[in-house]
Amino acid sequence: MQQTSIKSIEEWKTDSFIQEATALKELFWFNPNILPVQEAMPKISLSTDDINDAAERLERFRPYIAHAFPETQKAGGLIESPLRRIPHMQKAVGEYTETPLSGELLLKCDSHLPISGSIKARGGIYEVLTHAEKLACAAGLLQYTDDYSMLASEDLAHFFSKHTIAVGSTGNLGLSIGIMGAKLGFSVNVHMSADARQWKKDMLRSKGVTVFEYDADYSLAVAEGRKQAALDPYCHFIDDENSTTLFLGYAVAAKRLQAQLSDMKITVSEQSPLFVYLPCGVGGGPGGVAFGLKQIFGDHVHCFFAEPTHSPAMLLGLYTGLHDAISVQDLGIDNRTVADGLAVGRPSGFVGKTLQHLIDGAFTVSDDTMFELLALLADTEDIWMEPSALAGMKGIAIIQNNNELLKQRNIENATHIAWGTGGSMVPHEEMQAYYKSGKALMNIS
Ligand SMILES: *Cc1c(COP(=O)(O)O)cnc(C)c1O
Repeated sequence: MQQTSIKSIEEWKTDSFIQEATALKELFWFNPNILPVQEAMPKISLSTDDINDAAERLERFRPYIAHAFPETQKAGGLIESPLRRIPHMQKAVGEYTETPLSGELLLKCDSHLPISGSIKARGGIYEVLTHAEKLACAAGLLQYTDDYSMLASEDLAHFFSKHTIAVGSTGNLGLSIGIMGAKLGFSVNVHMSADARQWKKDMLRSKGVTVFEYDADYSLAVAEGRKQAALDPYCHFIDDENSTTLFLGYAVAAKRLQAQLSDMKITVSEQSPLFVYLPCGVGGGPGGVAFGLKQIFGDHVHCFFAEPTHSPAMLLGLYTGLHDAISVQDLGIDNRTVADGLAVGRPSGFVGKTLQHLIDGAFTVSDDTMFELLALLADTEDIWMEPSALAGMKGIAIIQNNNELLKQRNIENATHIAWGTGGSMVPHEEMQAYYKSGKALMNIS
């Protein structure tokens, strides 16, 4: 049983659920600490106003984004992704998991977000824009009422070039911040963990970004970046573990999703609840999205984090209540996974504490599962995503296999959304290799 009293990591090692996590089992956990949104919100320092403020900031930047990234012109400079019905994949997931599935499964295609092809195009880009706006306004070079396409001018690029932005990343956050920062004219330093794919580093260097490489995991890359940045007063460190700015950038996704659901004539109510499965690394992306969804849909939305069996950082932090005081390595788990976007050993304490009464639960999936689901999605829907983005895909079946607690939640009429967090920029050969791994695994089993 979970307890809120402070137990040490050594004591937790005798807990049977923790032992299963250490044995790399695929696990499912319902959060016993969930509260109605009304009761949870007074314990949280962020609010709907903060999300609205972020949404307005992104509105101000639309003319600039449309100008700087022509692929966003059709959407008027909005960085948004499609929400798709995936009936063939839903059927395949039912067969794959041997679970009769009710309700409807949708896929949020953040894999196809413009500019950087992952969920990081929400938070990462938003924080770069927030910083740029703050600097330019303080210098008297910009006002909220201006047409922000002026940010593309030589003068502003020259102004930004005296400033540095730094970040630690497993790959995708570095990619988003590097592309956006370099476009505005900033000097950008990206500190990459050993998980980061070579093509991401190559792409960043081709844009003039300085890439530091570490033969260590994400937490160390972040710590090094933070340390270097602290020495430079002109350097802004984007702190993936603690940044409320990043978090709010992700949270805006909920407002956009609300509009997409309503366009698709899908209602969210007590009779037809919404279940959302969010691949989780350090927690900022999925935590921000879940926070936003809870503000909009209240107790009618149920959010779950999905993590690799080799990197169940957030699950451990929430389950033990230790948050960032526990890491997967503390239990001897190696944090080695094909899901490079989720290869995080220690969760964000800020996100864990903010979401501890709002998140419905968490589950883990093996690397093999992610590969197989990747191949299934490609075969059934011709949608191609990276392994991390498939972590939540089994959620619809996991929930319906564990419906003891869900009987009162109108599961038959539910809408389920797997958040597809990345992949459209993965080079063709690399994607083919992922696909072949998935196909090979399915032929064995
Ligand atoms: C970063 C990332 C996530 C998770 O986001 P966190 O903020 O690290 O929790 C999920 N999927 C992909 C593809 C990512 O790059």
